[in-house]
Amino acid sequence: MRDLRISVTDRCNFRCPYCMPAEIYGEAYEFLPRADILTFEELTRLVGIFAGLGIEKLRVTGGEPLVRNDLPQLLSMLTAIDGIEDFTLTTNGYLLSQLAQPLKDAGLARITISLDSLDDEVFKTMNGRGFTTQRVLEAIQTAADVGLSPIKINCVVQKGVNDHTIVDLARHFKGTGHIVRYIEYMDVGNRNGWRSEHVVPAEEIVAKIDAEMPLEAIESNYHGEVATRYRYKDGSGEIGVIASVTKPFCGACTRVRLSTDGKIFTCLFASQGVSLKDPMRAGASDGELREIITGIWAVRSDRYSEERAASPLGDAAPKKIEMYQIGG
Ligand code: SAM
Ligand code: SF4
Repeated sequence: MRDLRISVTDRCNFRCPYCMPAEIYGEAYEFLPRADILTFEELTRLVGIFAGLGIEKLRVTGGEPLVRNDLPQLLSMLTAIDGIEDFTLTTNGYLLSQLAQPLKDAGLARITISLDSLDDEVFKTMNGRGFTTQRVLEAIQTAADVGLSPIKINCVVQKGVNDHTIVDLARHFKGTGHIVRYIEYMDVGNRNGWRSEHVVPAEEIVAKIDAEMPLEAIESNYHGEVATRYRYKDGSGEIGVIASVTKPFCGACTRVRLSTDGKIFTCLFASQGVSLKDPMRAGASDGELREIITGIWAVRSDRYSEERAASPLGDAAPKKIEMYQIGG
């Protein structure tokens, strides 16, 4: 256990069809009531316990983390915890221009901003709200200006939706120091209508970019890194691909996730988590919470992506947690 992701809200200002399709997450959809969401103090306490168990890398995510009120205050509480060496956050960027400096001041080191396409028409479809790229591009610039770097740009690739725009995205960020990471479209959750035919294999993504801007593979930064790295042969930067469908990496997984309502999940594709909130609110000590966590980690045997690759389950697959509840 090295890498902890915490989902600080299950709400979002986008409706990306691959994550929270608008027809399901409409006006009437009931997100978690406030009482079920971990408070800043509870989150800080739990992250402190995780840090004591060896977590070095923390990612704040969601839902859209920037819609959580007073997020900079939470970050300043979390960055004060000893042992976390790498502290980052994933956002869709829509509210980032105003928050980049306060987040930096709160101790955030780096940031990942999702941007699936530079083409406004494609982007409008992929965020499900009809927003253009302008605010996200401005936010990327602001984040760079305040020093939240290196910036990673996440792009989920869906066949027939944005695969014709991936080379443009790479070209735009080549030479800026930002790293575009192309993510194979995954069958997270149960509601995005995923089919394997919608996936563009990472190999194809790399080949398309390489044909115009030659690439070479480079070593991973650390054990358990999910992105496979490539650099431009002309030295003008790098990209990454996350091949979780075509080349699963379950065997090297060091990642644990905490959902908005305080459940611990050992896999993105898990169907059930174990509540830390309930024992914590019932008065459990730090030692007792630590025992629950180590008990779960010791027996974990998740290898969903490897199993999916070996024999696709189709509709027989067990029901899974939705990604926005535990973060990407
Ligand atoms: N709202 C923030 C955002 O979009 O960056 C953070 C949460 S989002 C769930 C985290 C990441 O997961 C995003 O980069 C998003 O594009 C990615 N993601 C969501 N659904 C996905 C799917 N079905 N397959 C692959 N990546 C997905
Ligand atoms: Fe919101 Fe991020 Fe999911 Fe898109 S991927 S709906 S921005 S949580």
